[in-house]
Parts: sequence; C-alpha cells; structure tokens
Amino acid sequence: MSDPILTVKNLKKYFPTGKEGKFVKAIDDVSFEIRENEVVGLVGESGSGKSTTAYTIMGMHAITSGAITYRGRDLSMPAKKRPAELKKEIQIVFQDPGTSLNPQRNVGQILQMPLKVHHIVEKHEWLKREEELLRLVGMEPDTVYRYPKSLGGGERQLVAIARALATNPSLMVLDEPTSSLDVSIQAKIIRTLMDLQKKLGMSYLFITHDMSLMRNIADRIAIMYLGRIMEMAPAQAFFENPQHPYTKMLVSSIPVVLEEEEKLKPDRVESRGEIPSPVDIPPGCRFHGRCPYAEEICRREEPPMREVLPDHYVACHLAGGKNETKGRI
Ligand code: SF4
Repeated sequence: MSDPILTVKNLKKYFPTGKEGKFVKAIDDVSFEIRENEVVGLVGESGSGKSTTAYTIMGMHAITSGAITYRGRDLSMPAKKRPAELKKEIQIVFQDPGTSLNPQRNVGQILQMPLKVHHIVEKHEWLKREEELLRLVGMEPDTVYRYPKSLGGGERQLVAIARALATNPSLMVLDEPTSSLDVSIQAKIIRTLMDLQKKLGMSYLFITHDMSLMRNIADRIAIMYLGRIMEMAPAQAFFENPQHPYTKMLVSSIPVVLEEEEKLKPDRVESRGEIPSPVDIPPGCRFHGRCPYAEEICRREEPPMREVLPDHYVACHLAGGKNETKGRI
C-alpha cells in the first residue's frame, strides 16, 4: 500500500442557516486518505456533501473543524493562506467548463495564468508550454489562439484539464468533470483523464454520482451520505462484497447488460423515503429512516467507522464482513 499524499481527518464544514443554532451540516466528520498514484471515487447522491468536500480540500471554504494535510504538511487553512508550493500540488477541474473558463481570454492566456502565478516556466517559454499542455490533452497547439465560446463543451473541458495540469500537480480533484457534457464526449474525456493519470503518475479524487463509472476507473471508492462516509473500500471489494445497506441499495440498482453480471449483484435493497435535510440530521445512524434493517440501536447511536475486512471500512452497527455469521445483514 503506497503512502498517503492527502489526509482528511474528522473534517466538518457547517454553514449557518441564519436561524440561531441551526446549521447545514454539509460535511459532518469525514476522514479518508488518498494515496500515491491512486484514483479515489467519492460517490453520493445530490446533497450528500461530496462537492463541499472537494471545495473544502481546495481551500475554497474555511473548515469548521478537523484537519487536512498534504504529505504531512498542514493544509487546513483557506487557499489564500496556503503556502504557494503546496497550492500548486493540488488542482481542481470543475463540473462546468462553460463557467470555469474566462470568456474574455483566449486559451493561451487561460493556460498562461497558472504558469505566471506559480512561476512554472520563464516568460519566453510560456507559449511552448501552453502548446505542450494542449498536446497532452489531445488538442491542436494552435488552439491557444481560440476563445472558449468557439469551442465545444468537451474541448472546453480539455482546456480546463490542461490548465489544471499547468502546475504539474500530484493530486487532481475532479468534480463531476463529465456530468455537464454530452454523453457522446464523456467517454473521450474520461479516457483522456485516465491516460494522463497513468502517464503523469497523479492521484485523483473523483467526485461523482455515477457508481458504474467508478467500477471501471477507481482504485478505491467512498460512499458519502448526508455529510458522512458510510463505506470505503478497494473498488473490487466494494462491488463484490458491499457491506453498508446504502451501498447495497446503490450497487443493486446499477443497470447491467449481462445475466452473469446480474447474478453478481447484491440482493436488491429497497430505499424507503427521501434523503433527510442536512439541517436536521436524524439521531443515531443517519440512514436509519431509509434502512430496511434498522434496529433500536440504529435509532439511538451513530455507528462508528469500523474496518470489517482488510482496508474495507463501514459505518453500520450490523454490517460485518464476508461471512454472514459475522454480520447481521
Ligand atoms: Fe441500517 Fe442500522 Fe446499519 Fe444504519 S446502522 S445502515 S440503520 S443497519
């Protein structure tokens, strides 16, 4: 197992609602790590807190409590106060390239900005490096002279990826990088991202609601629900032996083509009800209102995260490993 490059420990991010004593608990005690050359999928429904986790790691939100460290160095402060040499190590690609690229600047100027701000290369080398970055993402070097509005959605996202690569980061946070794009170009963007990850030896934190995509590209997967991680495991174990009822619910609802694949799926777990409000998180296990296995203890005590199998963590009172007799669900 390789060393962690990013460690998130007991992270909380609460937003005030304007009502006294009431907060949106967007991230409510989250801990995980991302290792060298690893793709970690952070999966959850809308409102689970996964994007807030991404923005907090980037320093775009001040943390409420907890800690973020990069190779052992503290990164818990907002982006403005982070040391420049650490800032360039972690870059983000946003969901919508249409809003993340400045329409007033051409692609060359967009790529130039991080080269300039982080002193990556000398001024006389800017153009050469901009062209190299475009080639890296499979675009023509003369794209430097074009403006975002003359590019398609997929091309704009490739420019956003090239911009993120400009500082030679070791970790990229990808916030649903294909969900605003046409289905026909999503696969190309994913292929490009995965080729780059291997070629440049980066780690990815891939934020998504698309569980089936993670099956193909993630090394480890974490499931987030109402501000907390419910299960985290290597991808294969995650799909072959999901432990948490919420994970089982998500995995069992992935559409499959082959009958053999259908047989490998866990028994269908039907969800009851809707995801509760992050302002009024239920006591005990926050999933208990939707869980078909809930018992008295679930309504009373928040389940701690436990390692039930090697490198396989789950926050459920009743889950317990491979052997049915070890766990009760
Ligand atoms: Fe369901 Fe209880 Fe496990 Fe929560 S702790 S997921 S309610 S069985």
